[in-house]
Amino acid sequence: MLRKNKILTLLIFSVSIILFSFLLQKADNEGYLTDNNIIFKNVNSFTDSLFKGKNMQNKIIKSEEEWKNVLSPDQYRVLRQKGTERAFTGEYWNHFEKGVYCCAGCGAELFSSDSKFESHCGWPSYFIPLAEDRVYYVEDKSYGMIRTEVLCSKCDGHLGHVFDDGPEPTGLRYCINSVAIKFIPKK
Ligand code: FE
Repeated sequence: MLRKNKILTLLIFSVSIILFSFLLQKADNEGYLTDNNIIFKNVNSFTDSLFKGKNMQNKIIKSEEEWKNVLSPDQYRVLRQKGTERAFTGEYWNHFEKGVYCCAGCGAELFSSDSKFESHCGWPSYFIPLAEDRVYYVEDKSYGMIRTEVLCSKCDGHLGHVFDDGPEPTGLRYCINSVAIKFIPKK
């Protein structure tokens, strides 16, 4: 009887392990594995091998009051309160000079003009950040949609969202608010 119980316990334990592994694998494949709310899902397989890191070094941390003092009301609404500027109203949606687009909150270099493309969506669009650790991603379920929010790794400022309808080579479209970035022309 005791032996039977032991076997049964072992069997239940084994089945649980197999079931747990299966669910974990399924979650990973579907991109639902998160760590501290930082999404590890990326919008296609290209980014699955990249863009997993959140740069925790040299973070810029300010109180809301301090941010209000250094940002314009529009910058504050987008960067700190996750707002969105109206399409076709920002400074850079139709801007194609050579240079670098920096975070308007902290000055971190985020996107190169080399990755900017005409998306006709009304917001500046890029197919890749300047380096993989410049931005990080959070799942955004607001407004009844599931989107991937893009944030500045250095100051945690909200930049915009990334979608999988971009051009080659990544197939991604980083849809960024003009007010969240500042263009520095190439010297
Ligand atoms: Fe920043």
